[in-house]
Amino acid sequence: MNLIGDHTDYQEGWCVPMAIDREVVVTWTARPDAIVRATSDGQPGVVELDANDPPDPRTVEPRWGSYVAAVARLLQDRGVTPRGLDASVHSTVPVGAGLSSSAALEVAVACALLDAADAELAPLDVALLAQAAEHAATGVPCGIMDQLASVSGRAGHALLIDCRSLTTTPVLIPTGVAVLVVHSGVDRALVDSEYAARREACEAAARRLGVLALRDAVPADVRDDPFARHVVSENARALAFADALRSGDLRTAGGLMSASHASLRDDFRVSTPELDTLVDLLERGGAHGARLTGAGFGGCVVALVADARVHALAAETAVDYGAATGRTATPFVVRAADGARSEV
Ligand code: ADP
Ligand code: MG
Repeated sequence: MNLIGDHTDYQEGWCVPMAIDREVVVTWTARPDAIVRATSDGQPGVVELDANDPPDPRTVEPRWGSYVAAVARLLQDRGVTPRGLDASVHSTVPVGAGLSSSAALEVAVACALLDAADAELAPLDVALLAQAAEHAATGVPCGIMDQLASVSGRAGHALLIDCRSLTTTPVLIPTGVAVLVVHSGVDRALVDSEYAARREACEAAARRLGVLALRDAVPADVRDDPFARHVVSENARALAFADALRSGDLRTAGGLMSASHASLRDDFRVSTPELDTLVDLLERGGAHGARLTGAGFGGCVVALVADARVHALAAETAVDYGAATGRTATPFVVRAADGARSEV
């Protein structure tokens, strides 16, 4: 779940996500052959494939098997001798809400297949493999944020990610503040095509400026380009947010989140009326700050709220949102959790 820094990862910038206390658990038993067989309590169908000869991910049925096939293929490409398993997937991550259930699935499946093969990859390599699996399974050219947060999360901390060096720096979340997520009740729409279009626009802007990525641009370079302007200003906000969190300055941290939302709404144009309404209600109700999270186009917002206020604000926001939009908001408090791990 991203606290700040949206649409910056694929321009080698900075973002500050955290792994949350929702998880995808893959329970498995080894098989004598190389058949990977998986069911999920959240998605229909049985995935069955030969890990010695994994199919093209885009052709796999049921659809969620694409992620499994992509991970199996990429592991094979990296020289991991595949072993079969019977797996069941259990998840508490909302699907399609912008909280990266797909990244959680890719990372969990990668961990299971690695364990089954008695092989190991460095955490960063697991994240890179999971990112490549997302590309192969969906065609969406996502950045590294979701998968790296899923692998490298640290309980009680957000992660400042430098998406050029791919280093993660844990930043302690101060006591007394809660992280409130509110689902708008609107599924994300158009996210794949619009995401790819935004990414292309940013790449074109970087080419025009003669820089490797918009991370290397300064505000004066992008004054007349709203998409690039968002990325450049968002990078500055992500870094300032990490500093503010470190020094316990929640007022500043919250202000940066609200400025991020305004930039995503007005410059990057990935918000929706529902997300704007939620952010507005949360801010007016006393949140330190609020913003859309995930790539936009529906899904969830996130707010930093004083512990003492969070449950009342969640309830009030749900009521007021229902009255304003006729839709049902689902608020829930999340805590920063450790990233992926294997257990025997
Ligand atoms: P998000 O990552 O924001 O939740 P995506 O559209 O990127 O949304 O990913 C959702 C897809 O990931 C689902 O449609 C499904 O294919 C797959 N997925 C996520 N969680 C699970 C799960 N627990 N079991 C099977 N497939 C899952
Ligand atoms: Mg996803």
